[in-house]
Amino acid sequence: MDAVALEGSKELVSYNPATGAEIGRVPLASGKEAAAAVEQGRIAFDNWRKTSFAERKRLVMKAREVLIAEMDEIAALISRESGKPFAEALSMEIVPVLDLMQYFARRTEKLLRPRRIGIGLYALMGRSSKIIFKPKGVVCIIPAWNYPFSIPLGEATMALMAGNTVVIKPSELTPFIGLKVGEIFEKAGFPAGSVQIVNGDGSTGAALVEAGPDKIMFTGSVATGKKIAAAAAKELTSTVLELGGKDPMIVFEDANLELAAQAAVWGAFCNSGQSCSSVERLYVHESVADTLTKLIVEKTRALKQGTGDREDVSIGAMSSERQVTIVEDHVADLIASGAKIEIGGRRNADALVRNERRFDADQASNNSQVGAASADEGVRAPLFYEPTVITNVNNEMRAMQEETFGPTLPIATFSTEEEAIRLANDSEFGLTASVWTRDRSRGRRVAEQIEAGSVCINEVLYTHGIGQTPWGGFKNSGRGRTHGREGLLELVDPQHIHTNRIALLPDAWWMPYSANAIATFRKMSRTFASGSLLKTAMVLPQLIKRVRELWK
Ligand code: NAD
Repeated sequence: MDAVALEGSKELVSYNPATGAEIGRVPLASGKEAAAAVEQGRIAFDNWRKTSFAERKRLVMKAREVLIAEMDEIAALISRESGKPFAEALSMEIVPVLDLMQYFARRTEKLLRPRRIGIGLYALMGRSSKIIFKPKGVVCIIPAWNYPFSIPLGEATMALMAGNTVVIKPSELTPFIGLKVGEIFEKAGFPAGSVQIVNGDGSTGAALVEAGPDKIMFTGSVATGKKIAAAAAKELTSTVLELGGKDPMIVFEDANLELAAQAAVWGAFCNSGQSCSSVERLYVHESVADTLTKLIVEKTRALKQGTGDREDVSIGAMSSERQVTIVEDHVADLIASGAKIEIGGRRNADALVRNERRFDADQASNNSQVGAASADEGVRAPLFYEPTVITNVNNEMRAMQEETFGPTLPIATFSTEEEAIRLANDSEFGLTASVWTRDRSRGRRVAEQIEAGSVCINEVLYTHGIGQTPWGGFKNSGRGRTHGREGLLELVDPQHIHTNRIALLPDAWWMPYSANAIATFRKMSRTFASGSLLKTAMVLPQLIKRVRELWK
């Protein structure tokens, strides 16, 4: 069930997608309130930009402590509002973001240290250049619902460490997780206005974009990404767009098939397949296709699906009815096109098992209904889709081209390395990919030919969790980068400071011009501009003549 704005009201309603129970309601910010948040962020920026890296580090490390102290309660909230298993709330949201926080708290100063730039022959004229990095101002973060905690918290940490203030508009499906992110910063002692949470839907997001923040960090669909890019262009606001994926996994005949099968199951089904870097297409060498498929089906059969608060549940609920409908549509299309369902292929109406042990803390809403749907309500909850393995597929099928964003794993075959690369690249997307082989030189050769922002060799999906490395896509998977030094540079403006340390004589290119000036510039074009010291030495007499002319 989607969290929705009640018609005519100014509230968002959040539901537990595993039980159908209402979690609570939050006010929906109006366009005016969104614009006011950007303004407030600008006021706070005046002071925040002047804080030292040491002070920012202290506060981020304090925020980590808050998160660690409330870890179980926060993981339970993430699980309850998004449908993912408690285990994944810990392993895929909390562990990576804690690592990102310590890394950028400790390293941002070094990563943004002023840098001298080599300026070639200009240095011989007593000039020097350096770059300093200045925070942009108000960074507006608009995330999706699938990693509703780690993505906004991680991006906000990086923006704050770089000296910016932050306005976050959580997804309308996960407003309480968004509020929790704000609460962590507040409890850590970040100053008022440095981090603001503005809950709302697409219209609130659009109002934030229109308010002209200094940077927009967007995570979501290609369609919304295009709308945001168009709207941001009006104020020339720069954007980072983290969009969809249709990520291929290529398994060669010499791969460790047992490991590849286990990786494929995790890569395709974690978070119910709702990861931008999910394995959405698997291409396996025809000689080992049957063996790999059998292993994958066996491992899938062993998984338990149910409410995220059970410790033995590996596959939780999907996040919205809309998303389940897309999965159903894709599976139906595959079947109609001749594909074969090896396992799964339907909603799982029996997945809602009431369990004895509940993660009952719910600080998010203080609502007595939280997580307490009746069994009857729960049994009807329709948002579980079985992990599904499909064979007899090819790239002509619609579901092999459009992002499914659900627990499906279509398996196709190839016969040569070239064919595997061609099939993997046959997509409008290019976020991540993986190559499985025991031959590392083949792994690297293939990886380098794949059009994707990150390619793993004998690994799958998880590099968003390595905050030290750049994250972002090629083609329709996005523009710009988050994470790593490349991501940090998106959050600052480089300023070039150029100094003439001698400053005694006019430059040869200054006014007034003359025949002598033109003769000098002609010679400079062939000598000085070649970067060769030797050639430049030959133009010195002409240069001296020209400078004398100006010095008169
Ligand atoms: P979405 O585009 O529907 O919504 C994303 C966010 O944009 C939400 O907060 C929404 O309220 C807001 N929004 C909607 N319309 C807007 C507008 N006109 N102006 C400003 N904001 C607006 O996407 P979704 O369904 O929440 O997320 C699923 C998509 O996110 C998938 O395609 C997935 O691949 C992608 N994703 C990408 C990455 C990545 O790193 N590349 C990570 C996670 C998810």
